[in-house]
Amino acid sequence: MPLVSMRQLLDEASRGGYGVGAFNVNNMEQIQAIMEAARETSSPVIIQASRGARSYTNDLFLWHLMQAAVELYPEIPVALHLDHGNEPETCFSAIDLGFTSVMMDGSLEADGKTPASFEYNVAVSKKVVAYAHARGATVEGELGTLGGIEDGHGFGEVHLTDPDEAVEFVQQTGVDALAVAFGTSHGAYKFAQEPTGDVLKMDLIEEIHRRLPETHLVMHGSSSVPPELVAQVNQYGGALKPAWGVPVKEIQLGIRHGVRKINVDTDSRLAVTGAIRKVFAESLEKFDPRDYLKPARAAMQKLIAGRMRDFGQAGHAGDYEAISLDEMRVGYAAAAAAV
Ligand SMILES: [Zn+2]
Repeated sequence: MPLVSMRQLLDEASRGGYGVGAFNVNNMEQIQAIMEAARETSSPVIIQASRGARSYTNDLFLWHLMQAAVELYPEIPVALHLDHGNEPETCFSAIDLGFTSVMMDGSLEADGKTPASFEYNVAVSKKVVAYAHARGATVEGELGTLGGIEDGHGFGEVHLTDPDEAVEFVQQTGVDALAVAFGTSHGAYKFAQEPTGDVLKMDLIEEIHRRLPETHLVMHGSSSVPPELVAQVNQYGGALKPAWGVPVKEIQLGIRHGVRKINVDTDSRLAVTGAIRKVFAESLEKFDPRDYLKPARAAMQKLIAGRMRDFGQAGHAGDYEAISLDEMRVGYAAAAAAV
């Protein structure tokens, strides 16, 4: 099937009561690892690219690799999503290229660093929703700021999402999905110790979901940073500090309270790097890139297949037929006319 809208994947996930992993990619091996994991577990999936990934792949390599993915895995529903669009133009160019979903992160100004006002966030998000929905594409907004920095993007400090503002934001913008800040951070060093209820405000997710039951909630910075992956990197010459991510059981609790999209990037990076370091350390005579890229791809596939089972998306690839972007566009127009 062709690329599908993220909205459809998340609506189906909501009906089925599960979450869908959104995995970041930069190259062919990562796309292959995700698609193989999706086939292995029969999972619908979101593949996402940051601005950094778009410039790394010059857009066109990414686009054509994704075309190969949908051609080779026709049974897997896949959405192609822009992660952390910094301004409306970045989102428009992604939609024009064929992304079926975009994130307009108006929680920060266009520099990707300065916290933005609520009014600014509403204005840019609204603009992107108008453009995207007129083409059947999905929009994710963000309210509140996460900790950490990802690909140079981020304020660095956590500002938790305010539930009253969340309701107002969704009403004013019409976003399909909302990234909420509830204590997670981007990157490998999310927490200095295992996070407890004081750090991860799961009750905040519950409250936002109760007040916005139709809005799909998104967890950013949701890698779990498995100790064995950090240990493997360090065993073969790496120097990562001890790190704690978001425990899978906390993510599963979020899924029970309206979280439908879970962003995972750091764990994939750790899996890939650990596998490559192992080959470099153990097989000094090897110099064919396939000798280390194959194990890297296999390690990432293993990690992602596990996450697909953890999030509950496994087994759901065959549940539904793709709704075309044109049908989605008609649906949005009808919903707007009915208001
Ligand atoms: Zn993020």
